[in-house]
Order: sequence, then structure tokens, then C-alpha cells
Amino acid sequence: MPLNDDDFMRYSRHLLMGDIGELGQQRLSDARVLIVGLGGLGCPVALYLVAAGVGQIGLCDPDRVDKTNLQRQVLYRTDDCGSLKVGCAKQALEALNPGVTISAFARPIDKEILADGYHLVVDCTDNLAARQIINDACYAQRIPFVSAAAVGWEGQLVAFDFGRFRSLCFNCIIDHNSAEPMMNCANSGVVGPVLGIMGSMQATTVIRLLLGYFKQHGEMTRYDGKRGQWLSMHCSRNQQCPTCGAASV
Ligand SMILES: [Zn+2]
Repeated sequence: MPLNDDDFMRYSRHLLMGDIGELGQQRLSDARVLIVGLGGLGCPVALYLVAAGVGQIGLCDPDRVDKTNLQRQVLYRTDDCGSLKVGCAKQALEALNPGVTISAFARPIDKEILADGYHLVVDCTDNLAARQIINDACYAQRIPFVSAAAVGWEGQLVAFDFGRFRSLCFNCIIDHNSAEPMMNCANSGVVGPVLGIMGSMQATTVIRLLLGYFKQHGEMTRYDGKRGQWLSMHCSRNQQCPTCGAASV
């Protein structure tokens, strides 16, 4: 849909930028993005993408708001405790930007949701099984996938542009033989703004991908909030990867 008068006002700070402009804003407006997980990462991702005018957003999370969420999950209010996260989030996001169409799925991520024609998926979950389902569906459909995680003072982000590159995927960088139980916010704690930083990076990465400015397929960025330091590293393909390795072909 072409931009209207309200859009020109609302998105004026994008339209002022030569490398976004009217064409870039139109691309954002035409995009369909699925956000999986509406916790500490999903809240800032959803807020920024809806504010930015990404035209259609899917929200997927089976959980209800709990008082322990309020320290970091910035979409929710105290009165929301006990309500479905996707319902509270949809209401808050529609109030922020009524021009965005928001679909809510109050169930764990599955292949049916992932097959619904999204252009890009943002992984904001805290579990490996969901990440693998998302990775495999995005790889098969050749759509980009942006994943992040945070625990304690530390966060990490990795993104894959499967539409352009098929040389590496999330499954390649998982240690399938690790005996360590997975750390998460529920069992190890987390500093709220570290999730805000990583979620904001995910939203920025989504905008870069939608506008064609993303080049770092499979590069991992780590943030140490206690030291205030960033680190980037290249990941390499696992030839035995069940998703993209030689055995999968
Ligand atoms: Zn792989």
C-alpha cells in the first residue's frame, strides 16, 4: 500500500535519510515479520519494528505474563499479570501504531505458523528446540532468520540470510554433544537492559535485512555488559550439520 499523509509524518525521521527514504519505508511497510517469543528480547524487537512501520507482524508465544517478567519485559504492565502475553502485546502495539497489522499465536512455534508466508523470522525464544525448528523452516524456505540470546550480563546475536547464502546455518554452531544444561534467564538471572540492547540489535538487523544492507551471514556478535565490550567472530559450517551439511543433500 502506498504511503499516506499520516505515514509521511509518522516516518519522517526515516524519510529524511537518503539510504531509507520513501522507497525504504515502502519496503518496511510491505514486509511480513514473525517474532517468536515475547519475553525480554521479543518486547523491544516488537516495539521497534511496529514503531518503524513494518507492515505485518506475527507474534508467537504460549505464555502468560508473570510478575517475575516485569523486571525486563517492557511491553507489560503490572495489571497484565495472568493474561496471555500475545494479547497484551497486540493491544499495546496496536495503540503504538494502528497502521500495522498484528497477528497473535498463543501457542509454541510450529511448522504451520512458519509456513504462513513471512519474509523473515526473529528468534526471541530461550530454548534450543524452538531455534532448531525456526532454523530448519527458514533454511528450507530461503528466508532470513535473526537469533539472539542473553543471560546474566551477556548477550549474543547471529543472523542468517538464507535467501542469499546457504553455506552455514544455526544448526552448524550448536554443540550437539554438550552435556551442560542450557542456562536461561529463569535459572540463572539476567540484567534487563542487556536484553534491551540485544533486542534492539535484532530489530536493527531486521531493518538492515529488509532494506538490503545486511552482509554478515552467520557472523556472531557477543556483548559483555559487565565490561561494556563487544566481540564479533566468524562461524564456520559443520560438514555434518543435519540441516545444511553434506549429509543433508
Ligand atoms: Zn548448518
